Amino acid sequence: MADDDKPNSFEELTKQFSEVLGKVGANLQFSAFPFEKAKAEAPKEEAVEDDREALQKIQKFNYKPREVKEYLDRFVISQDEAKKVLSVAICDHYNHVRNVITSKNRSRYEYMKQNVLILGPTGVGKTYLVRTIARLIGVPFVKADATKFTETGYVGGDVEDLVRNLIKIANGNVELAQYGIIFIDEIDKITNAIADNGRDVSGRGVQVNLLKLMEETEVNVMSQADMLSQMRTLMSLGNIKKQPDKISTKNILFIVSGAFDKLSSIIKKRIGTEQIGFGSSHVESQDFEFLTQVQTEDFIQYGFEPEFIGRLPVRVACQLLREAELEKILSSSEGSILRQYKEDFAGYGIDLQFHPEALRVIAQEAAKEKTGARGLLTVLERIFRNLKFELPSTDIRQLTIDAESAKNPEILLEQLLRGCAPSDYSSRDLERFAKTFESDYGIVLTFTPEAEGRLIELARRQSKSVVTLCHQLFEDYGYGLPLLLEKDAPKRFEIPLAAVENPGDFLSKAIAQSYQNRSDNGDGPQAGPVPN
Ligand code: ADP
Repeated sequence: MADDDKPNSFEELTKQFSEVLGKVGANLQFSAFPFEKAKAEAPKEEAVEDDREALQKIQKFNYKPREVKEYLDRFVISQDEAKKVLSVAICDHYNHVRNVITSKNRSRYEYMKQNVLILGPTGVGKTYLVRTIARLIGVPFVKADATKFTETGYVGGDVEDLVRNLIKIANGNVELAQYGIIFIDEIDKITNAIADNGRDVSGRGVQVNLLKLMEETEVNVMSQADMLSQMRTLMSLGNIKKQPDKISTKNILFIVSGAFDKLSSIIKKRIGTEQIGFGSSHVESQDFEFLTQVQTEDFIQYGFEPEFIGRLPVRVACQLLREAELEKILSSSEGSILRQYKEDFAGYGIDLQFHPEALRVIAQEAAKEKTGARGLLTVLERIFRNLKFELPSTDIRQLTIDAESAKNPEILLEQLLRGCAPSDYSSRDLERFAKTFESDYGIVLTFTPEAEGRLIELARRQSKSVVTLCHQLFEDYGYGLPLLLEKDAPKRFEIPLAAVENPGDFLSKAIAQSYQNRSDNGDGPQAGPVPN
């Protein structure tokens, strides 16, 4: 098909496809739904940069568990036990995968996949750990919420979409996708929930479907619902390198996680210490201690099928993050959110610095949120909301947050704004408006000192930025000014005070005057004189 003939839209594509099929006597009805659905469920993770390079990297996998943990230490604070357990499971798995790819050291024994279950409250780094490992090894990684599978109604298909998403992340490389990692959060929400009418509301169904995936099954590379990809294949028949139609899940690593809120009480009952922890001020930390003692029977009592929990042999609990750890996340994690804030401000030429005591205050506030490291984001957003809004429009180039300003950012903002002269930055705003105007209309705008002073005053009185005010006042000037300027004259115009006071009136009078001059002189419109 020539490039010009290529369909631009879903509708065109379906029309062309129907015509082709019509010629061979087939009649097909299309619905846009599967396409929309495919779009809505597209994986959020970043695709691997180079899938061939990624495959070669897996072939050469030679990390030791200690090295993987040391890499994790750079980003993820605390969670030592989880890091160790994951490092070992990952090294075992990818050593096996390397041997499968290179066909070396084939074991005489059947390989038992080390799927992992991570327990722990929200925001403590469960996803972050797995995402960081996937980045280190360079394998495709997708994350999904187990709760999504229960909502759709046709459970089986959706679960398999996880594998197809992995192929998307692997740039369509099925071979690479079969060595990827699938991370499923909120796994504790698919226990055997029984609805009021006595029906299984899908918890068991989802477990059974996931079980098949986790063990070993063949998944169609293209979902039946994904009409678009089927059409693409048909339309390019013969043009593309043949990809496998199926992908095996045998070597895909599954890592699942959940908060398992009510699991502690089951464990406590089993070990006969139901009373311990109640009335104490450290209930949460004691609950965590219990989670580390979890056994298969506790999961079964929680509502998991024995076969399902049996496919998750590696289990580890993540700890709650306390103030000290939250502070350390800010100060020493290579992925600290503070870096992002510094970059955001640097984008406006503002250097952002923090006093160490400010980090303590932020961590203290974040701990109160009880959402783990996510609390840090909430607190930082609160501190920086107005600073981020106001400071980019000022001349301020240095912002230092100390303990006091972390507690009272409004006072800091007030002080900063009081200490800077608005006229300086307003003048620069005016220059920015002129630059945009020049690039839009090819005319260099300048302002007389009186016009500039008046614009700055008006902007302050109307609580607007100078740029917004200029856009409003000189909305028609991009089309009006060319009528004033002579064909070969330099494309520049100086805005006088009169144009600021009454922009529309000034422009129409100036144009009329210019045409008058032209007819008087018998030539084209003149740039002046303009009305006062
Ligand atoms: P969850 O445990 O709910 O999966 P996440 O791993 O998604 O939580 O954590 C959310 C964000 O918080 C991460 O992207 C990361 O920036 C930060 N974070 C969470 N835990 C840690 C940690 N232990 N060390 C460093 N950063 C963390």
